[in-house]
Amino acid sequence: MELTNIGVIKDLFERHGFSFSKSLGQNFLVNPSVCPKIAEFGGCKAGVCAVEIGTGVGVLTQELAKRCDRVTAIELDERLKPILNETLADFDNVEVIFADVMQANLEDIVRKFDGKETVVCANLPYYITSPVIMKILESRLPIKSLTVMVQREAGDRICASPGTRESGAVSYAVRYYSKPSLLFKVNRGSFMPSPNVDSEVIKLEITNEHQLPKNVEETLFKLIRSGFSQRRKQLVNPLSATLNISKSELSDLLSSLDIKPSARAEELTLENYIALAERLS
Ligand code: SAM
Repeated sequence: MELTNIGVIKDLFERHGFSFSKSLGQNFLVNPSVCPKIAEFGGCKAGVCAVEIGTGVGVLTQELAKRCDRVTAIELDERLKPILNETLADFDNVEVIFADVMQANLEDIVRKFDGKETVVCANLPYYITSPVIMKILESRLPIKSLTVMVQREAGDRICASPGTRESGAVSYAVRYYSKPSLLFKVNRGSFMPSPNVDSEVIKLEITNEHQLPKNVEETLFKLIRSGFSQRRKQLVNPLSATLNISKSELSDLLSSLDIKPSARAEELTLENYIALAERLS
């Protein structure tokens, strides 16, 4: 079933009485070149299992299922159940779990793949892009990569190098766990209905380079969040309030770590934040 064909989608919706939910970020892909590219770049092939978040009518699910050994997809909208029963009927290697991805037990899902290489591929609902990405990264699932479609501005920020003006707290958090890269841009006309923004597909390759004790990790993310909450101010200002330490004490600490006491949040490298978190924990 050609799920990028608008006539086919409209027929499915009519027969099943389905209408789009804007609040669930339901912008479905209708550009036929995009899903095969997500699956290819995402490393989907024989011997690999995939987790998908947000199936819609199953357009990406089909591409993952064609290439991977097994696919487990999580979809919140139960109204899509009869549609997916029809569109995924030819695939016996797909399981759809109807749940909120933020509540789902992702460890359990990946465990059922019996140690096979696992990737996450998705056209994410944009209202929870960062929380979903951070949930997956923070839970340190044994996965190889995440290849996801996100709103263009969000993708640019996630992939921005720390130390650049485009970077934000999320750029640092993502780099702690992974190596991000921008794969390709997708314009708004590739979706039905068209959103008001353009999109892009990014890939986060899990590195496991940094493995700090839990309390140091917590301090690290607290420092990054606090710094970027007032990114135009010198870092000592938000940090002294968050940590309840005097500005002069904090300035001395920064100097001892070779960090300018006048630095703003975006002027620090991830390693600077890690060193600071280690010292403070
Ligand atoms: N993969 C399909 C495609 O590319 O056409 C659909 C992508 S659409 C942007 C996002 C999908 O995520 C929708 O089907 C929506 O119902 C689902 N969704 C929204 N919030 C969700 C949540 N919290 N947990 C799981 N799925 C969710």
